[in-house]
Amino acid sequence: RAKAGGKSCYSVFNSNMHAEAMSRLQIEAELNRGIEQNNFVLVYQPQIELQSKELLGMESLVRFYHPQYGLMSPLRFIPILEDTGIIIKIGEWIIQTAVHQFKTWQDAGLPLKHVAVNLSATQFRNKHLLDSVREALEKSGLSAECLELELTESLLLEDTNSAVKTLKQFKDMGIRVTIDDFGTGYSSLSYLRRFPVDSLKIDKSFIKGIISEPEDIAITVATIDMAHALGLSVIAEGVETVEQRDFLRDHGCDCAQGYYYSQPLNHEEFAKWTIEYEKNTHNDI
Ligand code: C2E
Ligand code: MG
Ligand code: MG
Ligand code: MG
Repeated sequence: RAKAGGKSCYSVFNSNMHAEAMSRLQIEAELNRGIEQNNFVLVYQPQIELQSKELLGMESLVRFYHPQYGLMSPLRFIPILEDTGIIIKIGEWIIQTAVHQFKTWQDAGLPLKHVAVNLSATQFRNKHLLDSVREALEKSGLSAECLELELTESLLLEDTNSAVKTLKQFKDMGIRVTIDDFGTGYSSLSYLRRFPVDSLKIDKSFIKGIISEPEDIAITVATIDMAHALGLSVIAEGVETVEQRDFLRDHGCDCAQGYYYSQPLNHEEFAKWTIEYEKNTHNDI
């Protein structure tokens, strides 16, 4: 039945697939060479305590400069790194770089309490994860209490028994754990009882609507109250306006990050931003 006109359909399909596979292979190769060629960079976004306006620390976010395509979003290249397993190598580089950079800033006297690093599913499942985190901390001399790991709910629910085990090991080391994008996974709230985590990060999709959408307001307020009732702290991501900041502060949210304060910044910009922020903490920011 695919005969009439089937041939040309087939060949078009085939050549598209070929082009796509080629560019995917090419992207994979570039990602693979990315560390040696200095095409990966970390950027840092400040995290602020809402009541005190104190700068607490930052989240590190990875960027990749593709030699032909320019800046690629992590939403696009992290899945490729995951599929190919390259994420293990890049993930180690990310942790080492973030920890080392943070220690350098702390030693230079910047008033920062922690650095948050994102972990993906493959990294979290990797049996060498703990050792590589420990090694990064030892090499840099940074205390484990300064490191926070961001994990998503879906990642934790893949294999809950081994997830609990890994989280306990982090806790024993003194590392803090945050559930990222909270509210967007298939969460069964009962997992919060089993998983030894320290804080919840409310996803930016809810923060977007906290001034106007009754559902987003309800979910955000309920998340803040539930987190506190469980002894967890709460941070909001994607805070873009002063109204959102005020709402979150007035409803007891502990911390915030987002374009309202700053875009993610490269290391030079971040150091400058921090110094400026410290000068201006008494102003309304
Ligand atoms: P995420 O961890 O939930 O990070 C928050 C994303 O929101 C970041 O996008 C950040 O740049 C963006 N963002 C920050 N403030 C605002 C705001 O006010 N409004 C809006 N609309 N967006 C804001 P980014 O950097 O593109 O990262 C996307 C995702 O890629 C991250 O989501 C995380 O899941 C993943 N990712 C980023 N860096 C890493 C990393 O080093 N390792 C791993 N495994 N994943 C990473
Ligand atoms: Mg994150
Ligand atoms: Mg997030
Ligand atoms: Mg998110």
